[in-house]
Parts: sequence; structure tokens; C-alpha cells
Amino acid sequence: MPNARDLGGLGTTKSLGPTRVVGSQGNQEASVPSGAAGNAPTALMRQYLDIKARYPDAILFFRLGDFYEMFYEDAVYVARALNLTLTTRDKGKEDPVPMCGVPHHAARGYLAKLTELGCRIAICEQLEDPKSVRGIVKRDVVRVVTPGVILDEESLDPRTPSHLAAVTGDARQGYGLAFVDVTTGSFRATEAPTSESLLDELARAEPREILIPKGETDLAAAVRRAYPRVVQTLVADGASTKTQAASASREDKRRASEALELPWDSTLVDRAPMAVAAARIVLDYARATQPAASLPPLHLEFFQRADTLVIDEQARAHLELTETLQDRKRVGSLIDLLDETRSAMGGRLIRRWLLFPLVDVSTIRRRQDAVQRLVESHAARDSVRKILSNVGDLERLVSRARLGVATPRDLVALGAGLGLLPALRRALQDAALGEISPETDLADLGADLADDIAARIGRTLREDAPALTKDGGFVVAGFSSELDEWVAIAAGGREGLAAIETRERARTGIASLKIKSNSVFGFYIEVTRSQMDRVPSDYVRKQTVANAERFVTPELADYESKILSADERRIALETQIFVALRDEIAGAADRLLSLARRVATVDVLAGLAEVAHRGGYVRPLVDDSTILDIEDGRHPVVERLAATGGFVPNDVRLDPDHEQLLIVTGPNMAGKSTLIRQVALTVILSQMGSFVPARRAHLGLCDRVFTRVGAGDNLARGESTFLVEMRETAHILRYATARSLVVLDEIGRGTSTYDGVSIAWAVGEYLHEVVRAKTLFATHYHELCALADTYARVRNVCVAAREGDGDVVFLRKLMSGGANRSFGIQVAKLAGLPPRVLDKAREILATLERVPSAAGPTGPESRGGPYIRGPEGSTGPQLGLFQSAPTPPPLPKGVADILATLTSLDPDNLTPRQALDLLVDLKKRAT
Ligand code: ADP
Repeated sequence: MPNARDLGGLGTTKSLGPTRVVGSQGNQEASVPSGAAGNAPTALMRQYLDIKARYPDAILFFRLGDFYEMFYEDAVYVARALNLTLTTRDKGKEDPVPMCGVPHHAARGYLAKLTELGCRIAICEQLEDPKSVRGIVKRDVVRVVTPGVILDEESLDPRTPSHLAAVTGDARQGYGLAFVDVTTGSFRATEAPTSESLLDELARAEPREILIPKGETDLAAAVRRAYPRVVQTLVADGASTKTQAASASREDKRRASEALELPWDSTLVDRAPMAVAAARIVLDYARATQPAASLPPLHLEFFQRADTLVIDEQARAHLELTETLQDRKRVGSLIDLLDETRSAMGGRLIRRWLLFPLVDVSTIRRRQDAVQRLVESHAARDSVRKILSNVGDLERLVSRARLGVATPRDLVALGAGLGLLPALRRALQDAALGEISPETDLADLGADLADDIAARIGRTLREDAPALTKDGGFVVAGFSSELDEWVAIAAGGREGLAAIETRERARTGIASLKIKSNSVFGFYIEVTRSQMDRVPSDYVRKQTVANAERFVTPELADYESKILSADERRIALETQIFVALRDEIAGAADRLLSLARRVATVDVLAGLAEVAHRGGYVRPLVDDSTILDIEDGRHPVVERLAATGGFVPNDVRLDPDHEQLLIVTGPNMAGKSTLIRQVALTVILSQMGSFVPARRAHLGLCDRVFTRVGAGDNLARGESTFLVEMRETAHILRYATARSLVVLDEIGRGTSTYDGVSIAWAVGEYLHEVVRAKTLFATHYHELCALADTYARVRNVCVAAREGDGDVVFLRKLMSGGANRSFGIQVAKLAGLPPRVLDKAREILATLERVPSAAGPTGPESRGGPYIRGPEGSTGPQLGLFQSAPTPPPLPKGVADILATLTSLDPDNLTPRQALDLLVDLKKRAT
């Protein structure tokens, strides 16, 4: 056990968890009454206080017998948070200590809830057997559970990584990010030039807890703004790590690498000092959570943003890659549809493929090759997937062995999973995937299937091994002759007991006489009250219970000690055998983990093949071009929800040299958002190596997918929707390149129409003239169609709808040209606005349509009217839009006001009540 003082790292942190009552754990001097207050703490409480002092910012789960107890403010907080009964210790005394507790066997559930709330919990165990010591049992913290470092599988979602992340840096030096999943050993780091890009990367890491050096207050504030829901923890030594990383001597750098247990890689410290600094923070913190067991070596994998298709937080959220926008559920997201993997490790890997698609043609094609073979060979795919269903989570099982927390049942599961790999290899060979060829090696399991380890586990542990070691019973008979002997003695003892029972029944004539045992008295003879007169004189009375008396005899005591000591020896020996096996597996962890990752890769490829097969996807042509050409593309998720055959496919073609910017118009509900998102999703799918929902697709590599979609959902951050929208737009204009795909939905909607159209126009122009990114721009401002008249690479398309019997009929088909009608009232009708409101709205619309276009262009008829064409900087008048364009004579102010109200109105977002109120108001103003 390391010196407890080494744990200062954790002691100096402070939880900033979103819902955690900050400070409740921090100021223990104020909260804990000192001995001088009249109540001298007992020896036990002194022990408690000593340990607690080392973990001031954690809740201390203090083991007392079968319970974890909490005291003082910990107890008050936890009792409230978990709805436990708050009692007191030393009742009756002047200043009783608040206390609450949870049974140790149920602790996992409570731990999970507390970490959800952003708490850290220090688990303090009894380090000695209370039976064998007099006085206070030695206790200490064996591990600290934090939101980012949880080893209990039950509280983890098996299909998402459990990342602890650290960020560090500043505007001058740049930024570093590192994240580790201690449950799988995955440890990655990268650098980012700006805080914005750092925050984007952080989104993809999906951290459960973010560590930030204390001194870096700007960074902390930025992270807090961007991730209000994720627990943030300030850690002590950012400044020193940074200096060390950036300016230290080579020797220091070498030591820094060594501390990371990197293979001697001074170049990484030189190349990416901030990433290394972040990695150190993560590692120091993770290590401090395991005082009783050392964290196994973790191999740092450095990656560069430029090596992946960048998907920032907005894009991930807007495209609903991992959860839906509205209720943040997995169901309805792309991952939910795409994850047809059979093992949890496959589930985590496909999530990584989705969030980190590739930008390298050859690797994408290798994945496609493997998917294609698995699509083509139904039988192989089926058997591969069937085997994978039973392989289990090899990755987490091996990691648990490496962390010393694997149970006998875990190792049996590992052995069983490994045992299936030869069959998996044969099934892959059937799909011609087993041959090691450059194209298909992704789906190859490699030469080493670790069958030696599978066999070793099979030889050692029983298939029905229990989850706990404490009672033994998991080592197979015949494994150790010494163990077999102890088992025989214990069994012999038990047989002997049975013999004694029979003999005593005969001797005393008490047919109901029984030999039983309990933990207090050991073995005893029980005689019911009615038979008491037959009890022989050599029985020694031990206990009286309701209806019977209990006795012992010297012979029984003898047997008892024999059985107990045999049992003890047996369990000790079994545990020893088990630990040796676990250590052996831990020693082979690198080998096993790389095998596990290969199996996970096969799982992902087979899953993608299954999705492609079921959904009728095609293999896209991926190359280094900048073309985006999709024939009969579909939205993978919406198409699933639509009735069979109900989804209308569409062609989309974009290329930076000819058709760079598509203005997509059409009435509300026509399918604009669906269309533009489906293009973005198709690009992402393609670059992760998946097939895509289309009849044919040619997709040149993109470097980044940007989105600006729908109303912002960031109200929680206290920013106005419009501000968020503009911030996101600014971000796109700043970072998009000619290789990016930009998807914009309804820019400028959050402000008045004049502002909105003007901003949308200017954004479109900038994308065309400066950024040159492939862009899909959905808008209900028909005015933007005039961009096409001005700029060479702008095209107008609309999602068609037509009117039939006063209703709108959505055709969902993309046509060239701008939309000519909004069908707002028809859509309002679909939404169930009362007929009276609709009638009135039609009336007003008719009036408005008779009024000359005063409030600026409102329909296609105005297209080409007030707009002035010509490239920027040319002489003719520039985009005067409404202000500087030649306008008709001004309307009376009252009328203009009414028109302004109407044009800025968004019927979709009105409740019937609001609509009615508005009409009443308009009428009042008109008359
Ligand atoms: P808009 O953005 O134009 O208001 P949406 O893209 O939100 O419209 O689409 C509205 C609804 O229409 C979607 O929820 C979807 O169910 C349906 N839809 C969209 N596109 C299609 C399509 N191509 N085929 C079938 N249904 C579609």
C-alpha cells in the first residue's frame, strides 16, 4: 500500500459538478466539531477524521462491518441526495454526529447515483479481519470512484466509452487534450490550436469528467460554458506540467515520457508538448484513484485532428449522430440504427468510427472491401455475427484482469469468449476474409488467437464459477492435488457429521435430532423441546431457542475445527490459484487487448455489412476529388421511420467548381432539413467506411462537416437563440475550407425578416466568394434564390409540393428552381389550427397579396427586382436589399407596421391561442 500522503493530488481537487453542493465536502474544519468542543472523538472517529482529512473533497464511504457509513456533512449531503435516513452517532451526547449508511453489497447502485451527481467517493475498507484484532481495525482508502473513473461494470453503459479527459493550455502555447478509458485501457491525446477547436475535440471524446488545471481560469470558464452538464474538476498542477512540457530539459522530457510509460519517445514531448501535458494530468489523476492497486501501463496514442473528418459538437448534435436533438435519447439517432454489432466492444468501436471518420482513401477502401465481402456472403455474415453474440466484452474483461478487479466469473467469460475465436476465424475464411491480403486484413484475426490462455482458464476454473472469491468453489477438481486433498477432508468431515447424526439418533431414540451450524456457535445438535428428557448427559447445552435446545459434544467440536480449517485452507488455496491466473492474464494483457480490438473490428465490419444489406445501401466511390454526387440518396433514419416505400429518394450533386452552393427552398414540412442532413450523414457514413443509403454515390473526401441547423437548444447556456445561431455561423465561416461540407438550415430565422434575409444573403455570398465550401442552404427566404442570378456556382432547388383541394400535397421531390409558394396556411391547417383562424389568415393573405411589395420582396415575383447583380467591388450598386434599393413610395406607417408584424411572424411557432390574440390585435390596428 503506497504512502497515503502520495495522494495529495486528489486531496487538492475540488468538485465543480453541476448539481453537487459545492463546498459541502471542502470545509471540514468548519463542520467537524473538534475534540475541544466537549465531545472528544472516539478512537474510531479519530480514525475516520484522519482518513477524511486526506480526502476532503470526496465523500468518504467508511466501512464498518457490513455497511459503508458516512458522517458529518457527507452524511447530510448523501442522505438528502439518495433519500436515506439520516441518524446520529453517539445519540444523547451533546453534539451528536450526523450519520447515514448503505449496505456494502448494495454500494454499487449508490455509487452510480452519486457519480451521476458529480461526486467523488473514497472507498475506505477494513484492512484486517475484525475477528483477529483487538481494538480498532486498520482501515484505508483502497480506491476513489469519480465520474470519470468507475470500474463497476453495472453502472457503465457497455456501448459508450467511459472517458476521463484533461485539457490544458492557453492561446499562446496552444492546447492539449487527453482522454483515457480505464475500463478498456484506451488512452489518446491530441493538440488543438485554438480553444474553440479544443472544445470541439472534447465533444468527440464524450468525457464523463473533465480535468482542468487550476490556474487556467479562462479555459475553465470556456469549458464550463460549453459543457454545463459534464462534471469538471480543477486539478492542482497545470502550470508546472505545462512549463515542464514546454521548456524543460531533454532529461526532464525523457522522464516525463517515462512517467507516461511511453516507449522512449522524446519526439512526442517535443512535437506535442501540450498533448503530453494533458496526458500527464489524466494519468496522475487516474493513478491517484487507485491507491491500493497500481494502474496498469497505458499506451498513449497520439492523433491529429487533420487525420480525421472533423465533426464538431454542433454537427454531432444537429445530425443526431449519437442522440436525438430533442430528448437526447439514443433511440432515433444514427448510432442506434448503425450499431448492429453483437458485442459491447464492437458497440464502442463503431461509435468511435462514427465520431472519428477517416480522411484517408486507402483505409476507407480497405474497410469497404471487408464490408463488401461480408455483404456478399450472407452465410458467413450470419455465422460471424452469431459467434460474435457470444464472445462477450473481451476488452473490458482483460482490462478488469489487468486492474486486479476481475472475478472468477469474469475470467471464465474471458476463456469462453477466447474459445470461440477459432470458429470465428473459420467463418471469416468462408467469406474469403481469412486470407491475409492487403485489402481485407482488417477482418483478419491475426496469427495469435490466445488459445493457450483460453485453455489455461478452462483447465483452472469451473464453468459455473461464482462471482465472488470469498467462498471458493471455482477451481476445477484435479487442478491441484493439494487442493483436492483439502476438499476431500472438508467433505470427509461433512460425511462424518452425517454419520454422527445417524448414530446419535439411534443412541438417543430422538428421530428429529439434527446436526446444524451457524456462524456464532459452529456445529451443534438440535433437539426439540418435547424430546428433552431423552438428551444424554454427555451433551453440553449451548443455547435455547423458541422450540428447541442446542448442544455440543467434544466429538462435534473436533469435526468442526477439522472442517473449518480444511475449508479455510481450501479457500485460501483457491484464491491463490485464481490470483495467479489473473496475474498471468494481466501479464498477457497487451496481446489480449490487441486481439480483442481485432475481434471488435470484425464485429463493426459485420454490423455495417448487416446494415448495408438490410437497408439496401451501396458502396460509394471514395476518392481524393471534391465531387459530391449522390443518386437517389435517402436519409437513413427518416427512411426507417417512413412506411415501406414511403421515402422519396433524391439526387444531389455538389462540386466546388460548378455547383458549389445549393439554395434549397420549399414550404415548411416539405423535407428540406431531411434532405440537407441526409447529404451530411451520407458523407460521414462514407468516410467511416460504411456503405450509404443511395443508388449510387461518388464522394470525394471532405475534411470537415459543418452544420447550422434548426433553433438552438442552448437556452440552458443562457444565450439567446439568435446569438447561438450567429455564433455557430461565425464558426463555420471562419473554419470551413474548400474541402468542407456546410449544411445550413434557416440562417437568420431568429431575428426580424429584414435582418434575417440580409444576413443569410451575406453568408451565402461569403461562402461562394471566400470559403468555396460545398454548401447546402435550406431557407424559407425565397429572396435568396436571387443569389443564383448573381453568383456563378449557386443553384436553386426546391422540394416540391402542390396544392390539391385547399390542402398541401408534399411530393418530397427535389426540383431545380426556387419554390414559388410557402403553403404556410395549408401547413397550419395540417397542424390543426382552428378553421376560424385559418379563414382569417387566408383573408389577410389575400389582402396582403394585393398590396404592392412594400416590405421588401416576399415571393419569387420580386426576384430580380430590387436585387442588384455584380461581383463584389464592381461598380453597380451592391446588395442594397431593402434599404438602398429603389423602393416604391412609402406606405402609411400603420400599414407598414402591420406588414412588418406579419412578415416577421413564424406561424409554425404559434400556439392557436397566440394566433388568435395576434389576429385580434391586427384587426384592432387595421380598424
Ligand atoms: P422542412 O425542413 O422542409 O420543414 P423536414 O425535412 O423537417 O421539412 O421534413 C418534414 C417531414 O417530412 C419529416 O419529418 C419526414 O417525415 C418527412 N420527409 C422528409 N423528406 C422526406 C422524403 N424524402 N420522403 C418521405 N418523407 C419525407
